[in-house]
Amino acid sequence: MDCRFILSGFDGEALLQELKGLIRTIPDYPKPGILFRDVTTLFGDAQGLKAAVTQMAEPFRGLPIDAVAGIEARGFILGGAIADRLGCGFIPIRKKGKLPWKTIGQEYSLEYGVDVIEIHEDALAPGQRILIVDDLIATGGTAEAAVKLVRRSGGTIVGATFIIDLSDLGGLALLKGHGINCQALVAFEGH
Ligand code: AMP
Repeated sequence: MDCRFILSGFDGEALLQELKGLIRTIPDYPKPGILFRDVTTLFGDAQGLKAAVTQMAEPFRGLPIDAVAGIEARGFILGGAIADRLGCGFIPIRKKGKLPWKTIGQEYSLEYGVDVIEIHEDALAPGQRILIVDDLIATGGTAEAAVKLVRRSGGTIVGATFIIDLSDLGGLALLKGHGINCQALVAFEGH
């Protein structure tokens, strides 16, 4: 197996630079002008995946958390691993029409038009403490909709954690404006 990511002692900045180097950038996908930040290359590296999960979970370790809410689809891969690491449950937040039971939906804006994400109406009990997980935050619209879904379900948001922040787009600031304790491991400029 090709494991390029070497955890040799802890050097925070070097570790994050190595993680950043495992993310593949694909120009003009899915449309012209977008730099798609592809984390499948990081997921495919055993030590890279382990380090990403560890660092995403780290600020929330030891806090009372009932469940991770992962956003479809890359948020499921990370969210399941982080939930296991924190010893809590996992709740899927999915695109409209994918969940099999009764749902609560939340609209959010895209560049053109709107989209909807959903959560099972009985996914969490009132007062449960939830950590939101996705691979990347851009404008923050998707994560903001997830925050609204959890709060409408009676949950409390403990925080939100991402691998990548597209820092020019202001998503982390948007979440902080909602009082969310949020972090991303690495930042990229541009869209
Ligand atoms: P946003 O709602 O603008 O914060 O967009 C975040 C969601 O869109 C996440 O689920 C990301 O996986 C996906 N996304 C947005 N922009 C990109 C990008 N440049 N590369 C990869 N995924 C992206």
